[in-house]
Parts: sequence; structure tokens; C-alpha cells
Amino acid sequence: AQERYASIRDVAAETRCGAVIGMHMNAGLMADLPSLESSGAEGVGLFRTELQFLVRNQMPRRNELSVLYRRVLDAAQGKRVVFRTLDIGSDKVLPYMKPNDEPNPALGWRAIRVGLDKPGIMRMQLQALFRAANGGPLTVMFPFVAQFEEYRAAREEVNKTLAREAKLGHKLPSSIEVGAMLETPSLAYAPDKFFEEVDFISIGGNDLKQFFFAADRENERVRKRYDTLNVSFLTFLENIVKRCDSSGTPISFCGEDAGRPVEALCFAAIGLRTLSMRPASIGPVKSLLRRCDLNEVYQVIEAARDRGDMSVRGAVMEYLRDQF
Ligand code: PEP
Ligand code: MG
Repeated sequence: AQERYASIRDVAAETRCGAVIGMHMNAGLMADLPSLESSGAEGVGLFRTELQFLVRNQMPRRNELSVLYRRVLDAAQGKRVVFRTLDIGSDKVLPYMKPNDEPNPALGWRAIRVGLDKPGIMRMQLQALFRAANGGPLTVMFPFVAQFEEYRAAREEVNKTLAREAKLGHKLPSSIEVGAMLETPSLAYAPDKFFEEVDFISIGGNDLKQFFFAADRENERVRKRYDTLNVSFLTFLENIVKRCDSSGTPISFCGEDAGRPVEALCFAAIGLRTLSMRPASIGPVKSLLRRCDLNEVYQVIEAARDRGDMSVRGAVMEYLRDQF
């Protein structure tokens, strides 16, 4: 399938109206890295570090992780890699950690909540990342930040760990960007100060959508009722983009929907300029983006909203059919 898109692999995802959409890929294992080259991705917009923890039967050691992260950075050859810190809990249970008996794991002790409550693992992972950077730039992102305070606390851990590394005589990264995943509606309403302090935001649409509609992402029966292009959700996303734009906060979208061409087109139309998706989706998404005018698509979205459509999908599909 990637051969089909080989001719556009090295060209930008530039729309007919001249907008350029950054195309990044999601990854989680060393084996994903060759796709950076073959897909034409500009970088790794989401590196899910928990996969390395999940494929083992004991907690990986700091040195092991550091070597692995270094290999990832080497394979990326200078392209940016966004390392997401351990996102466990909910559907991802480490075989060597005592399972929690929680009535609602998706709403439970997971991701950054575990990281902040048990900072030992987080510090170990941060050290491994700092050492892997080997004096070069580093990008880290914390999953599931629900309130400003959690971001601040995580950032504080980054600073403390950096200070400790310096004391130990280790080389520090030349620069560090610390981002937050926006996966709960609460963070969209964080104070302006949050948007000013955070280095970048990435929308984790899989989780964000599940919490927006209160519909379990693992439960087909309820999940399918709610279209990503539902007017309420799309308007919500647009408001997040507007907040980020007014504070100059870089924003991207890294949930699965970024890899669906019609969804990606609508995201671009409401102002998103960076998407991260599975490598195989880059060709199809780029191909559609390059053939479209975002202003026209936005007008179609506006008209659907004015009419009171439940989802903009029907209108956008009709527009695309008329176009091509
Ligand atoms: C998301 O929630 O959209 C996301 C990218 O993270 P994950 O799918 O790993 O929860
Ligand atoms: Mg998530």
C-alpha cells in the first residue's frame, strides 16, 4: 500500500489553499522505526514507551532503557521523537505490578497519576531518557494530564532529576521540551497560565473522545454511537486549537482518528497543523489533504453546524464526492 503513495512520500502535505500539515508517526517499538523513512514521516509524534514495559516480565532496568532510547534516537537520525512517559493502568497492566482492583480502571489510577504517586519509576525513566539524549535535544510528554497542577508537578520532577544528573556528572540534554497530552476535557479549560507554561500539547483523541462522550473506547456497543466528526466534539476540538493559537502553544493530534483521511481533513480545517498517526496512514491522509481546500471544507463544516446536523461527516463526504 505504501508503494501507492511513494510519489508523494517526500513532498509536504500542502493543501490547495497553501496550508502545510505536519505529518508525524506514532511508534512504540524499535521495529517501528524503519517506517520513519518509508512513510516519509517528519518525526515520531508519539512514542508509546509503555510497550517496552509491557513486553517484559520484570521491570526494565535504567541502563537497558537508556540503550533502547538511544537506539530510537539514532534510528530517527535527527528527526524529532516525542517520548511519552509510561502510560500504564486502565487497559495496560504491567505483568509484574500488583493489579489494582478498581471498579473503573479507565477513570482510575493510571498514567501520570501513577507517575506522580510513585515517582521512583518516573525518575528512572527520565534518567534513562536524559542519558539517551547524550547531550542532544530531548522531547518528553506526560500522558493523561487532567489539571495544571499535575503538569507542574511532573515538570518539577524533570527539573529535580536534571539537577541530580548534573550532580552525578552526567551530560544533560542540550534542550528539553516538556509537553502534556490533553486527554480529559478538564485540561481544555485549564487556566491560561497552563497554556503559557506548557511547551506543547498533543491531543490524545482516543481517550479524549471516550471521556467527552462518556463512552468506553473498548466497548464497541457504546463507542460506535459517537462519531468523531460529531458537531459537539469537533467544536470542542476547535476551541482547544483556538486557545492554543492565542497563547502560541504548539498543538498536535495523535489519536487514531488522525490517521483517518476524512477526520484528518476536518481537523486541518478547524486549524490543526500537526498530526501524528500510524505510518501506513500517512500516504492516504496526505493524498487527500493535498487535493483539498481547507477554507471550502470549513465552510461545509459551518453549514452543517448551522443546519444543526449531528455530525459533519455526511456533508463533508458529499462535498468530497462532488469534488472528485
Ligand atoms: C490517545 O488516547 O488518543 C492516545 C494517543 O493514547 P493511547 O491510545 O495510547 O491511550
Ligand atoms: Mg491515551
